[in-house]
Amino acid sequence: MSVLLDVQNVTKRFGGVVANEEVSLTVKRGEIAGLIGPNGSGKTTLFGSIAGAHAVDGGDILFEGRSIRHLRSAPIARRGLLRTYQQTRIYDDMTCTENMAISAREAQGGLLSLLRPVPRATNARAGDLLGFVGLYEKRDDRAGSLSFGQQKLLEFAMALMNEPKLLLLDEPTAGINPTLINGLIDRLRRANTELGVTLLVIEHNMRVIMNLAHRITCLAHGRVLAEGVPEEVRNDKRVLDAYLGVA
Ligand code: ADP
Ligand code: MG
Repeated sequence: MSVLLDVQNVTKRFGGVVANEEVSLTVKRGEIAGLIGPNGSGKTTLFGSIAGAHAVDGGDILFEGRSIRHLRSAPIARRGLLRTYQQTRIYDDMTCTENMAISAREAQGGLLSLLRPVPRATNARAGDLLGFVGLYEKRDDRAGSLSFGQQKLLEFAMALMNEPKLLLLDEPTAGINPTLINGLIDRLRRANTELGVTLLVIEHNMRVIMNLAHRITCLAHGRVLAEGVPEEVRNDKRVLDAYLGVA
């Protein structure tokens, strides 16, 4: 497998707080990579650095072999690297289909394109992907009327509208009813195998990430503490100590 994302010695400070210190990790094309670590260990910050939400203070970030370190989020998204957030970002008063159409345009055409009518192909693809996440029956409902878990699924489908090569998912199962988690995990896996989307997933639920990820990186205090296949990381004493240390 070739390297799709190559994070090299990235450092990010917020004032006096060193949120990430010399963090390196790779994501290979076609895999599901996991990112774990106690609260405050710098996981979300790393996503922000990769996706162009803020400038980094050191290191480099290569996507498909080219540096994206100095790019902002829009040009990074156009190259096929997208993220979702811990808090969902949908338009409550619009329908699911409308949210899907807007997601496609924000990434591709900027805000002005929102004024043009929605092309039929976009609507068709929106319907297909809403079906993929199990929301086809809700396509004409207000997004604000969905349960929190359904809103997460909608947000996932919105990201897929842009045909990402790499999707960064920040705690996709957080706040979701445990009975719905397996369905979501199944969708993530199918996006990987059937739609060919490479995934980098932040997840606090150990059972979930050990099942889902092919390889896992663990952060603690802004640094890489351990990495390897789930079995290795699960049995790494440093990882256990890091989690027990905050519990
Ligand atoms: P995680 O996602 O692993 O819980 P974060 O990346 O959110 O961790 O936070 C890492 C550290 O950086 C924390 O100490 C947090 O308080 C700090 N931090 C994150 N974002 C900001 C910000 N915008 N301004 C100041 N400090 C921040
Ligand atoms: Mg976080």
